[in-house]
Amino acid sequence: MAYPMSEQDREIQAAARAFVDDLIPYENEAERNGGELPDEVRTRFEARVRDLGWEAINMPKELGGGGFTTFQQALVQEQVGRATNALAWMIHTPASWLPKVASDFQMERWVEPTIRGELRECYAITEEAAGSDVDAIAATAERDGDDYVLNGVKWHVTSFNQSEYLFFQGKLTNGPNAGAHAMFILDNDTPGITVVRTPEYSHTIAHHHPILAFENVRVPASHLIGHEGDGMGFAHEWFRYERLMIGARCCGAAERLIEEASAFAKERMAYGRPIAEYEGIRFMLADSLTELWAARLMTYRTAQGIDEGEDVKVQHAQCSLTKLFASEMANRVADRAVQIFGGRGYMRENVAERFYRELRVERIWEGTSEIQRLIISDQLFKRGVERLVG
Ligand SMILES: Cc1cc2nc3c(=O)[nH]c(=O)nc-3n(C[C@H](O)[C@H](O)[C@H](O)COP(=O)(O)OP(=O)(O)OC[C@H]3O[C@@H](n4cnc5c(N)ncnc54)[C@H](O)[C@@H]3O)c2cc1C
Repeated sequence: MAYPMSEQDREIQAAARAFVDDLIPYENEAERNGGELPDEVRTRFEARVRDLGWEAINMPKELGGGGFTTFQQALVQEQVGRATNALAWMIHTPASWLPKVASDFQMERWVEPTIRGELRECYAITEEAAGSDVDAIAATAERDGDDYVLNGVKWHVTSFNQSEYLFFQGKLTNGPNAGAHAMFILDNDTPGITVVRTPEYSHTIAHHHPILAFENVRVPASHLIGHEGDGMGFAHEWFRYERLMIGARCCGAAERLIEEASAFAKERMAYGRPIAEYEGIRFMLADSLTELWAARLMTYRTAQGIDEGEDVKVQHAQCSLTKLFASEMANRVADRAVQIFGGRGYMRENVAERFYRELRVERIWEGTSEIQRLIISDQLFKRGVERLVG
């Protein structure tokens, strides 16, 4: 046993693994169908998520969520990462930062139905000229009587086609907080929101990433989340959570790749011997396993630190350390797996080919590797080695 876990942790891990193992046989079909599962299959797995009580594992129990510890969530997300084509995203993790700041109206209208699995959300933050530098967003929110009027064009809005509402981040144009960020929650079908276009991306998943235009979108002030000026804080909290879960999913992907590539290496004959007997192949697998364990230890320890109430700045740094290392590790592992599979590794029906494309974005979204390095080095100079990894 490489890592200590409670009985309950192991049960959760096993249930998640079994769920994903049952999804894996559908990957190829999904790859050929734009990432979509046949209706009957999707419905069956969605019912299983409901039966497990896993509609919102990251939400508090008292609100009807799963109440999982951060560590348990990481264990589940690690298994989610083992399937390609985002098939296991149906184990949904809604905005965990929201209940703490949502008004009663927002709780009733969006948060509670989301926890019940009736609604899904998406994020409209990035813009054509503002990605890493979120502060450069040009989207605006103008106070007009009891309403706000929202304008802007948002890029890469993941899951817009699979969701009912969105978070919109804009800069206030008037009032005492002019120039500050504000975050709004609004339904996807609010008048004034249109899809500019839906670009194609490297991966084949059912969740699209359209470019959205917001033209004079009028929402009551009750759609403002928290207070004017709070927008960036919410984004940071979500980044922290997602960065850790990206780390977990990358560990799952790497595990699957190592298992599949080593199984293939034992069978595949070249020059009269299984390729697993050649050092060139063995060393690639050894490096992959070594790096996977390091990434897994980082992921688990960071998650447990959060559960133990670690200082939030240290959490922030450790989530970046984990995301940086795990995402780059998984990309190296995928590259080696393609190489081990040889020509088969370049075929879309092969797991290594799919992961080779799919894992690339893990080094980009929720903050690129370069941005993680900026955060880590900033924290290093502020807090020192001992505080971050001691
Ligand atoms: C598939 C996909 C889904 C996404 N989903 C969403 C979503 O749902 N909602 C949303 O709001 N956004 C989403 N994004 C946006 C994503 O978060 C951004 O793409 C990411 O933050 C990088 O921003 P950018 O693409 O504008 O690149 P840029 O910020 O323009 O960066 C370009 C390059 O410059 C580097 N760079 C930038 N600044 C520095 C610096 N200071 N030092 C060193 N290097 C630097 C970057 O690392 C990168 O290599 C998604 C993106 C993708 C690809």
